[in-house]
Amino acid sequence: MSLSTLSSSSSGIRTCQPLCFCDLQATFRYSNTLRNPRQPFFGCPNYNTKRLPYCKFFKWVDGDQYMKLELQERKNELLRKEKEVDDRFRDIEKREIEIRKREDEIEKREMVQDGQDEEFLKEGVDAL
Ligand SMILES: [Zn+2]
Repeated sequence: MSLSTLSSSSSGIRTCQPLCFCDLQATFRYSNTLRNPRQPFFGCPNYNTKRLPYCKFFKWVDGDQYMKLELQERKNELLRKEKEVDDRFRDIEKREIEIRKREDEIEKREMVQDGQDEEFLKEGVDAL
C-alpha cells in the first residue's frame, strides 16, 4: 500500500464502525484469548465499564477495516499528543511570563531597598 492511498482513506472510518445492540457505536478492541491473541474485534462500548449494562455484540474486524481503524487510532493518538504538547508549551509560556513578572518585582524591590540603605546611611552620617 502506498502512502497516498493511506492518507486518503481516513474519511470512511466512521461508516465502517458498526452499531451494537444498544444502538451505540461499537468500540474497537483487541482480544486477548489464547486462541485469538491480539485479534481486533468490535464490541459493546459499555462492556467492562462496571455498572453499565452491555449487550453481547461481537464482531471480528476484517483486514481492510483493521488497517483503517488502526490508522485512525494512530491519527487520534497523534492529535492527542500534539494537543498535549501544545498545552504544555502554552503552560511553559505562561510560567515564563510569570517568572519575568517576579523578576521585575524582585528588581523593583531591590531598587527600593538600595534606596532605603542610602537613606539609612545618610541618616547615620547626620547623626554623627
Ligand atoms: Zn451494546
